[in-house]
Amino acid sequence: MNCIFCKIINKEISSDIVYEDDSVIAIKDINPKASVHFLIIPKKHIPSVNYLGVEDKTLMGEIILTAKKIAKEKDLRGYKLIINVGREGGQVIDHLHLHLLSGKY
Ligand code: AMP
Ligand code: ZN
Repeated sequence: MNCIFCKIINKEISSDIVYEDDSVIAIKDINPKASVHFLIIPKKHIPSVNYLGVEDKTLMGEIILTAKKIAKEKDLRGYKLIINVGREGGQVIDHLHLHLLSGKY
């Protein structure tokens, strides 16, 4: 599959990994929109929120909890969590991911 985030998950493309476990990986965004900008990515290829099923409920919880864990580790006082959905929603990469942004915007 020609998916850049699947390639990152499979280590076919290098990235700056800040967290990884069996179900998610978190990396630094290559083109940060804030002084802190991470992407939390499920290892399962789900194209967008529009493709989520009820079986993904636990996984989505893990994604949010990973964001919270990274924010605590990095000592972030406040942050934004954003998921873009669809081209009109600003989504460029068709593998679901959560943006964690903090600092200057
Ligand atoms: P979105 O617009 O929600 O699909 O976000 C995609 C994000 O992925 C953008 O913020 C890009 O800067 C980021 N991105 C694209 N390629 C890479 C990469 N190879 N490593 C890290 N982040 C990337
Ligand atoms: Zn993928």
